[in-house]
Amino acid sequence: MEKQVILTGDRPTGNLHLGHWVGSLQSRVALQHSFEQYVMVADTQALTDNFGNPQKVMENVMEVVGDYIAVGIDPQLTTIFIQSQIPALTELTAYYMNLVSLSRLERNPTVKAEIAQKEFEESVPAGFLCYPVSQAADITAFKAELVPVGADQLPMIELSNEIVRRFNRLYNTDCLKESKVYLSNTSRLIGIDGKAKASKSLNNAIFLSDTPGTIREKVFSMFTDPMHVHVSDPGRIEGNVVFTYLDVFHDDMEETALLKERYARGGLGDVTLKSLLDDVLQRKLQPIREKRESLSKKYLLEICFEGTQRAKSVAQKTLQEVKDAMGIDFFSDNIK
Ligand code: ATP
Ligand code: MG
Repeated sequence: MEKQVILTGDRPTGNLHLGHWVGSLQSRVALQHSFEQYVMVADTQALTDNFGNPQKVMENVMEVVGDYIAVGIDPQLTTIFIQSQIPALTELTAYYMNLVSLSRLERNPTVKAEIAQKEFEESVPAGFLCYPVSQAADITAFKAELVPVGADQLPMIELSNEIVRRFNRLYNTDCLKESKVYLSNTSRLIGIDGKAKASKSLNNAIFLSDTPGTIREKVFSMFTDPMHVHVSDPGRIEGNVVFTYLDVFHDDMEETALLKERYARGGLGDVTLKSLLDDVLQRKLQPIREKRESLSKKYLLEICFEGTQRAKSVAQKTLQEVKDAMGIDFFSDNIK
């Protein structure tokens, strides 16, 4: 039986962080054995809100690939590729653009929140508003059935499936496949500042490549309970970032439960609590950082080159099916 296909990716706008790790990277590592997995570095998409700074995006491509390998994505099992190097994805986007209305794009809650956060004001780049259409191109080009992403991506998959249904109905074909979201247990890790989502752009994340000193600094800057002034004061668990992170990252759930009890009762200081989280994160991130440091840029480039070649031929095949379904064909019979 043929393996089911996975497609997912990340914008090279910075290094990957703990949110990526628990929201999507760990799923990719687990699923790569039983699925045919494609992982895309979405540099074209990253340009939609970084057009003035392409250098930043390009520099981050290999950083992101380094993070992939460091967490255990295996290039023998997973095809890693660079979005901008696959023209078929841009062509598919151009066709799909006609299957979505402007008002539908403007209703996308994730894009709406990002627009507000980025303060584009009246001049939202058209490419930014339309990036969910290019995501539909990415997903369908590989006929992906499963997309392991964080919760912010749910509206994108919904739109992608709308495009698939519309295309298949309109051109009386079944060449495009609908996909499903694969959500992890932590599909939205909060930021170290307590904001709803840890994000590269908000600079409120602990990065997989952070040094031990930076990790410690970030942990000690975390928001706890402003009313918890003295060690003996009872403290709040809810909204306390340190406990949220312990829930996600501390393997000893019993210890976390006991700490919560003590903290709520009074008698547990923030410094002790943060030191524990620091230990937990240092232990988890040290092997990732060491693996990352051992990778040469040449090796990462080779992985991307091979993966991109493979991905290119798959995407090209789907593009041909799409054009055939639409009857876009001029020269194949007449000129050889
Ligand atoms: P940017 O701020 O540039 O958009 P980002 O931190 O949101 O960066 P993306 O590259 O947009 O990262 O997201 C890559 C993948 O990681 C997506 O599947 C996204 O849902 C997931 N992801 C990002 N942040 C989190 C988070 N805090 N918790 C869970 N998943 C996340
Ligand atoms: Mg994002």
